[in-house]
Amino acid sequence: MIRILPLLSLMLALPPFQSVAADCPGNPAALGTERVLAIDPMQTAPVGRKQFPRTLPLAPKEIVLTFDDGPLPGTTDRVLDALKHECVRTTFFMLGRNAAAHPALAKRVLAEGHTVAHHTYKHPLLNRMPIERAEAEIDHGIAAVEAAAYGEPGGPPRTPFFRFPGFASSPALLDRLKARGIAVFGADLWPGDWNPMTPQHEHALLLQRLTKAGGGIMLLHDIQPKTAAMLPGLLRELKRRDYHVVHIVPPDAR
Ligand SMILES: [Zn+2]
Repeated sequence: MIRILPLLSLMLALPPFQSVAADCPGNPAALGTERVLAIDPMQTAPVGRKQFPRTLPLAPKEIVLTFDDGPLPGTTDRVLDALKHECVRTTFFMLGRNAAAHPALAKRVLAEGHTVAHHTYKHPLLNRMPIERAEAEIDHGIAAVEAAAYGEPGGPPRTPFFRFPGFASSPALLDRLKARGIAVFGADLWPGDWNPMTPQHEHALLLQRLTKAGGGIMLLHDIQPKTAAMLPGLLRELKRRDYHVVHIVPPDAR
């Protein structure tokens, strides 16, 4: 009983299930999206155990899928097709230059219910430049992504979620983003899909690391053909292994 209590109290603290698997058109066996987790940037310290001391309040076997560096025609389309087939909602940390070049694809990501988050304009390592330049790069990215996805630039980001390229944060930049109400995401696990490997190897590596981690924020890249290739099989395997997908959204999106 003593060992069960912490999990029980965590489960009670979570919002009720919002399973859509049973309602997934054309795919009764879909993985689906188990629940939506609203993230209040003002209440959320940087998350992702690879970079920071804490992660999101997830139960065991819950995962948050994230895709970085897109959108890119071809691979992002295939990723979106796979997610749609399984009724899985995820978060895309987009690059401003890619969203500006492919606005229809940025709009598709948004229209299909995914969270459109931010990853700078052109992927520099922000801890290697003056803070003013780093902030300008972040803001350029936010403006370009939101103009592409929503059709017009906003003021403050509609989705105040940010991931540092190469995880190259600095204490000063983390302070600035916190003051601006922008939540910072690292990751809990990844297959390292920026390295050369086959889709089969990526699939196996990711499942091995997921088994070890027990769940968490998963980092993938929708610009990687091997990731697009292995994703349909991965989603089926996640369902078979009884993992549950959590969709993160800003507090006012629920
Ligand atoms: Zn990146």
